[in-house]
Amino acid sequence: MIRYDDALAQILRQARPLPVLPRTPMAGQVLAEDVRSGEHLPPFDNSAMDGFALRVGDAGVAAGAEFDVLGAQAAGDAQAAAHGGAWEIMTGARLPDGLDAVIPVEQVEVLQSDADGKPLRIRLAADVPRGQHVRLHGEDVRKGDRFLAAGTRLDAPQLMLLAALGVAEVNVRAVPRVALINTGRELVDEPGQPLASGEIRNSNGPYLAQRIVQAGGELVLRQTVSDDEDAFFIAMEQARSAGAELVLSTGAVSMGRYDFIPDALRKLGATIHFHKVAIRPGKPLLFATLPNGALFFGLPGNPASSAVGLRFFVEPALRAMLGLARERPLRLPLLGTFRKRLPLRFHLKGHVALDGTGQLQARVLPGQESFKVAPLAHSNCWIVVDEDAAALEEGAAVSVYPPGHLLGLQLQGQG
Ligand code: AMP
Ligand code: MG
Repeated sequence: MIRYDDALAQILRQARPLPVLPRTPMAGQVLAEDVRSGEHLPPFDNSAMDGFALRVGDAGVAAGAEFDVLGAQAAGDAQAAAHGGAWEIMTGARLPDGLDAVIPVEQVEVLQSDADGKPLRIRLAADVPRGQHVRLHGEDVRKGDRFLAAGTRLDAPQLMLLAALGVAEVNVRAVPRVALINTGRELVDEPGQPLASGEIRNSNGPYLAQRIVQAGGELVLRQTVSDDEDAFFIAMEQARSAGAELVLSTGAVSMGRYDFIPDALRKLGATIHFHKVAIRPGKPLLFATLPNGALFFGLPGNPASSAVGLRFFVEPALRAMLGLARERPLRLPLLGTFRKRLPLRFHLKGHVALDGTGQLQARVLPGQESFKVAPLAHSNCWIVVDEDAAALEEGAAVSVYPPGHLLGLQLQGQG
């Protein structure tokens, strides 16, 4: 039995970043390289207000000054040259060359208009310093700036920025292809089907399928097989031909007479890197590499064990394949106390909530037994307690992980 840190080190030795591909930007992609801007944002100096553009110089112009209105500029109008005077200007309109400040329409008195109501002469009701209400070209992003860093996962705000800069293509990581094989002759997949004696429903399948996608993978195969080596071999062959770079199984990996996964893997020529980790739940977890280089995780069948296997073994592998740095937990004060006797690393279904002053605190939920499904659905985080810790008092700092490595705030820190 090895410690979690050693197990993770072995996984990270095998999990290589996937190839880099040029792609149209889409939510969920992970940038493989920094993105540089080929344009200024904003692309030209423009007005932040509806009002009048002026030339005020370094000294600015004081309230009371009067100007003739010599032109007008609306959003979308092309470059124009101004020779003094005031120009009527709209929000987002390109500032005429030669002008350097904008006064909002609310701060001028119109002294004279033409028959259509177009202003001809104005008086300033406020001082106007140079640069007032002017958005300078490149003030948001300069041409040549590295405006998104490698490892950034694209979501709405990043798509907004890429759109603002007219980026048609970015270099992203290939999406890891994942196959999921649930084992167990007791499993029933069809929700409406009545259970025969001894049967249970396959709850790990839908959970893992959803989490794999949320963790940045693509599910290329999902199969349920009986405790039968031949059926498993067929599913493994399907996983191979679907191009899976990562294969997960659930069940049949511990000490029972029908726990065929370790032997079956040996027959397939897999290299088993470890089997059994000093964790709870999910101790019998197995990690191997297949002859074609794909990674294989044998997750135990109990629902909480398979969830922990995915979160703390498979997700770090997915991160590495996506070129992302190792994850670090949040440290939050514990609400209540926690005692453990075994020198195992515990992964506890937890709940983070606000205290009376709005600070976050973490609580260990009741029902930590690995067969229980309900507490997982009531949790919103994982609380991890190290092998060596024995007693945690109220308020002690505990390590808290979001339900998935790409879910919740994407926090980064030093070290
Ligand atoms: P195993 O690891 O195959 O010994 O399974 C351990 C426990 O998890 C047994 O009680 C199984 O019935 C249960 N189990 C195995 N696979 C699943 C699954 N896909 N969904 C729900 N429970 C499962
Ligand atoms: Mg089983």
